[in-house]
Amino acid sequence: MCGIFAISSKENIIDDLFLGVFYLQHRGQQYCGLSTYADGKINIRTHRGLVRATFTNDLGGMEGTIGIGHTALKDRQPIKLDSKMGEYTICFEGNVINLAELIDELKKQGHSFYTDSDIEVIAKLIAQGDNFVDGIEKMAAKIRGAYALVILSKGKIYAARDKYAFRPMIIGKRAGAVAISSESCSFENLGFSIDRDVKPGEILEIEDSKYTTVKIIPAEFTQHCAFEWIYTANVASTIDGLSVDIARRNLGAALAKRYPVDVDIVTAVPNSGIGHAIGYAQESKIPFDNAFIKYDYASRSYTQPTQAERDREAKVKLVPVPAKIKDRSLVICDDSIVRGTQMKNDLVVKLRKNGAKDIHVRVACPPLKAPCKYGVATRTKKELAAHQKTVEQVREYINVEGLAYNTLEDLGKALGKPLDQICTSCWTDEYRV
Ligand code: SF4
Repeated sequence: MCGIFAISSKENIIDDLFLGVFYLQHRGQQYCGLSTYADGKINIRTHRGLVRATFTNDLGGMEGTIGIGHTALKDRQPIKLDSKMGEYTICFEGNVINLAELIDELKKQGHSFYTDSDIEVIAKLIAQGDNFVDGIEKMAAKIRGAYALVILSKGKIYAARDKYAFRPMIIGKRAGAVAISSESCSFENLGFSIDRDVKPGEILEIEDSKYTTVKIIPAEFTQHCAFEWIYTANVASTIDGLSVDIARRNLGAALAKRYPVDVDIVTAVPNSGIGHAIGYAQESKIPFDNAFIKYDYASRSYTQPTQAERDREAKVKLVPVPAKIKDRSLVICDDSIVRGTQMKNDLVVKLRKNGAKDIHVRVACPPLKAPCKYGVATRTKKELAAHQKTVEQVREYINVEGLAYNTLEDLGKALGKPLDQICTSCWTDEYRV
């Protein structure tokens, strides 16, 4: 997972670029990078670590009126290339499924590779174009998978979203400036308003704080990642016309309607389970209370690079609130159950130790059956609890009195989108792209 931000303004953008990327930190916490253009020169700087921790005192020399930025789980971006179109920097979110074939093909054409990363292949494919738009089209015709990308060339930005629109990408405007972001939560505190989402297959050219559509690559269907609303995106964001907060409340309400249970409180696995739990509480008229708080200085466990780090962070980040738990029966809402180990070994243990009575788990998405091929770091098939076990077996495994998941149909209704317009491969194990 990654976050992308780009901005063009009549004034120096470096503070806004820094903050725009900072507000996407939840999409990746291992690397971050910024690139700006000023005085005929493209500047680039990347760091390992969090945006605020690494860039706060390291923005000197990066001033400019146009720039792009990135925050990532996996690799340092932007990267810089020199080509027949001149120097450019590029950053990307997504996954190239046919990466190995493309690397072989490019090697046969005489290319050498510095890494085996998606971004290097994408950048080299784009560099084969007559210009950036032609290059993006050529790249799009070659790759199988998902992408959202921005390119900074001398004085211009190009932004592109794949024709299935797997990954979110949105345009914001304020007086004298335009921005492109993975999520609209970047816009709020920078004074931008949502203009619209980047359309499926759209290529934008951004110059002098204005954007123009230069191409739309046609597609037969869209495949918006349903997981964005369930877990990945920030609750303050609106993606493809649907508020993440409202989507989560709808999902929680659907669980309450289909799987009611008589308990003392509804609680959440924070933070991403909170919206689902509020929706469940509002629909069931059972009070919401916080049995756990997420410790403010902990990280997002899912965006840690290794399983050991994910397990450690998951254990550290959730602190039980004993007074909210003792002698109470409860529904606890979570966005998803991946392996079930956190629920079994951490949350349920902490709830029982603090005197919880019956524990009923409600899960916002259907049982996860398959890994993601489109750039979200879900596990291998055999790691997924629901791939190997029935719902009843998962319930026994995590040691709770009740367990229920939203159905796929309820998921589609909660998102207000036909199931053939969203990606549901995690749950169906069927891949349309
Ligand atoms: S497979 Fe799942 S996580 Fe991946 S794009 Fe589809 S819905 Fe999103």
